[in-house]
Amino acid sequence: MPGFAAGGAVAALVAVGRQLEAKGLLFRGTHANLSARIGPDRFVMTRGGSVAHLDAADFAVVGVDERVLEGDMDPTMHEVVAMHAGIYRVRPEAGAVIHTHSPHLTAFALAHEPLPAVYEPLLRFGLAEPVPVVPWAPRGSERSVGGIVDVVRDHPDLSAVLLANHGVLVFQRDPASTAQLLATLDEAAELVLLARALGGAKPLPPEALDAVRARMTAFGSRR
Ligand SMILES: [Zn+2]
Repeated sequence: MPGFAAGGAVAALVAVGRQLEAKGLLFRGTHANLSARIGPDRFVMTRGGSVAHLDAADFAVVGVDERVLEGDMDPTMHEVVAMHAGIYRVRPEAGAVIHTHSPHLTAFALAHEPLPAVYEPLLRFGLAEPVPVVPWAPRGSERSVGGIVDVVRDHPDLSAVLLANHGVLVFQRDPASTAQLLATLDEAAELVLLARALGGAKPLPPEALDAVRARMTAFGSRR
């Protein structure tokens, strides 16, 4: 169990786990993993595969170099640890990472279809480009984690990626905002699917996307 310093992050992630379940963002298996940064070189992370009913014993402290620093982490979790650590290494401003199989987003991941940037609320998260699909590779392999890290590095304004045939990975400055972005993305995915019955979603006007990009440049940050 992590020490006192990680307590705030653990409490925030426990709350996020409950929220994700209440909002239907965990699919039936409730599989997910949650983490939050507690220093430049370390983060606290869930130890198991389900996050609906977490308590403080369900977390370990892990280094961005993927070493377990406090608590126990099952060796089968290594692939997941590597995925979270990779995001913290390539995105120093990331304060939390969430991986889920949220149903509507995962439908896009299964179809290898990027989620188009057509839902206005996503602009508030600075998401003005489609959420890409990272190609499938054996879980935990260097190719799998490297593929995720490469896409995130190549898209500095992106804070989410779809994992082909698997699920979604989302990151923001803290656990609450990361959960909020995940909820907005799954809403977007559901609405894009519903809009197909009406002939398909239409793009936002170019000036909406330009305005978001200009604002991000003006503030010199993504959020
Ligand atoms: Zn998964």
